[in-house]
Amino acid sequence: MTATKTFGDQMKTGSKTRTRTLVTNAGRAPHRNHGVVNPPVYHASTILKPTLAKLEESRKTGFDGYRYGRRGTPTSRSFEEAVAALYGADDAIAVSSGLAAISCAILSQVSAGDHILLADNVYFPTRKFAAGFLERFGVNSSYFDPMKPEQLVEQIRPETKIVYLEAPGTMTFEVPDIPKLAASAHQHNATVIMDNTWATALYFNALEHGVDIVVEAVTKYICGHSDIMMGAIVSRNAHADAIRDMVYMQGNCSGPDDLYLAQRGLRTMSVRLAQNGETALTLAKWLQDRPEVDRVLHPALPSCPGHDLWKRDFTGSSGLFAFVLKPVAKSALAAFLDGLELYGMGASWGGYESLILPGDPAAARTATKWDEAGQLLRIHAGLEDEKDLIADLEAGFERMAALV
Ligand SMILES: *Cc1c(COP(=O)(O)O)cnc(C)c1O
Repeated sequence: MTATKTFGDQMKTGSKTRTRTLVTNAGRAPHRNHGVVNPPVYHASTILKPTLAKLEESRKTGFDGYRYGRRGTPTSRSFEEAVAALYGADDAIAVSSGLAAISCAILSQVSAGDHILLADNVYFPTRKFAAGFLERFGVNSSYFDPMKPEQLVEQIRPETKIVYLEAPGTMTFEVPDIPKLAASAHQHNATVIMDNTWATALYFNALEHGVDIVVEAVTKYICGHSDIMMGAIVSRNAHADAIRDMVYMQGNCSGPDDLYLAQRGLRTMSVRLAQNGETALTLAKWLQDRPEVDRVLHPALPSCPGHDLWKRDFTGSSGLFAFVLKPVAKSALAAFLDGLELYGMGASWGGYESLILPGDPAAARTATKWDEAGQLLRIHAGLEDEKDLIADLEAGFERMAALV
């Protein structure tokens, strides 16, 4: 296969093209679309063939060409081409959500009797999928502490088909030694899948650090505007057909307008991410000095476990981090959160707006311990002025203090 090896065929760029340039150009081909800058939106189920010969030919082309809306349209392919180019990958496939990317990537690699080894700090629905779905179909799962690479070696089995990673850890933001973990997995012939939603291709090219299959929630930074659900699975040819087959068998596809919005979001991702990241770090540093705060969990701060690995392997930090409050009464926590004006309270992140969310990592850990006494709060730094964001938090601490 694939449909996605050439990006915007007017681009004469090679593999050295920088990611920011690709964010702007990959997957577009204005000369094929009457000069229109953005790719057109094809609403399609039926795709007609003019002759029996053409129909028969199209049935032999696998996932190349266009046969049926669910198998891909010029709208989905142009988006996928762009995402593949960002990673220098052979293929990327768009699916209906980040969680669908996770489940399809995993299912493309396992059969009954296999085992999957997961980092203990993965996104909670990934754990739910392993326990609630994979186990029912005879695929066992277990967890290791990603900050202790020796645990991977101890726990990997002959039937381990996948080592599944996420970095930094969901809610807790520690950064593991991904090249080292991937090398151990490969010694035992396991495929390495990584959730790279936090860093995106801009700040961490996981494929260049030993990862075989990358999953991203497009819902977050690529979309960037909190208005669509979509995921992407990125891989090399060795895994691409198995992934496309699994996505096909599950009947998973994305709507044309969502694909258009995802691609529209992508074009500004580098500037958004740079600002999200800068503001997040400003907030993290400010919070670090507050008496109400016990710990700040941000990969770019030296106090974060794995900070040196982040410095070695990543090229930036995005807008999501967390902090742990010193213990306070629930009413004081509510006073802090309920009165915030600029931070919305809700799931997801990666948009232009700031968010705050209480979390409890202890509920989703089995191989490690989360025993902080205070409440963890996760912040997504949006594109607002950081002085306003700081003032909003400061007013929150004052409301909290009034109740302590
Ligand atoms: C949100 C998220 C997902 C899932 O994406 P959806 O599009 O919401 O299904 C996966 N991984 C991480 C790290 C996320 O934050």
